[in-house]
Amino acid sequence: MENLELLIDLHQHNDRQGPGGALETELAITLAALDRSRPLKIADLGCGTGASTLCLANKLNADIIAVDFLPEFIEILRRNAETCNLSQSIHPQVESIDNLTFAPNELDVIWSEGAIYNIGFEQGINDWRPFLKPQGVLAVSEITWLTDHRPNEIQSYWDAQYPEIDTASAKIKLLEKAGYVPLGYFVLPEHCWLDNYYHPLQSRFDKFLSHHAHSDDAQALVEAEKQEIEVFKQFKAYFSYGFYIARKLA
Ligand code: SAM
Repeated sequence: MENLELLIDLHQHNDRQGPGGALETELAITLAALDRSRPLKIADLGCGTGASTLCLANKLNADIIAVDFLPEFIEILRRNAETCNLSQSIHPQVESIDNLTFAPNELDVIWSEGAIYNIGFEQGINDWRPFLKPQGVLAVSEITWLTDHRPNEIQSYWDAQYPEIDTASAKIKLLEKAGYVPLGYFVLPEHCWLDNYYHPLQSRFDKFLSHHAHSDDAQALVEAEKQEIEVFKQFKAYFSYGFYIARKLA
């Protein structure tokens, strides 16, 4: 079995595929100060099985195009939207976030939680900008250094995983350079990582390993996830996801 299939199987049963939380999505909605007088058109990019999509649909009068390149995640989102009676406002779409097919100035809001790192923050904010209407809002969570200095061990870890990791001030500078006006920034608290993401993931390890007959690949995947969790626990004072909310400069 391909590793991607294993990764999908391990993650698809959880509500989220990355750190985040409903309260934090709501806080970002508040900071975005959206004009709610008319229906909004929102793209949720790298939506996974749709934790943020469902929250946005519940809170806003909006048409939400939920985009992910994994059909398995999109299918679960489609079923969840039906169960929650939100199919009218959620439009799932299998597409890559580095090759989007929206029209120029089509969207009021671009939302993306825990996904922009897949194409890189700077590329994402620049490539997605044309799809936003003038004054449209971008809300993205992105891996961020919380301090100016940090131990070499965690610096090397992230240099290898995602060299674009940087401080909030540097990320905000990139937003300004790309033609956005920053509206707000906050850090995802620890419970978004542990209670909402890692603990549900950990609780599936045994079932996952049995289901795959403890294959070498399945064990390697679980070990990698365990190591990631340990790194977070040891160095959580130095990094988290930052949530950035910004308006497109007209
Ligand atoms: N936003 C979801 C959440 O917070 O639970 C998922 C976050 S998960 C860390 C990253 C998501 O990005 C996954 O669902 C993955 O399939 C998707 N993804 C990664 N690369 C992508 C790409 N090039 N195009 C579309 N989706 C992508």
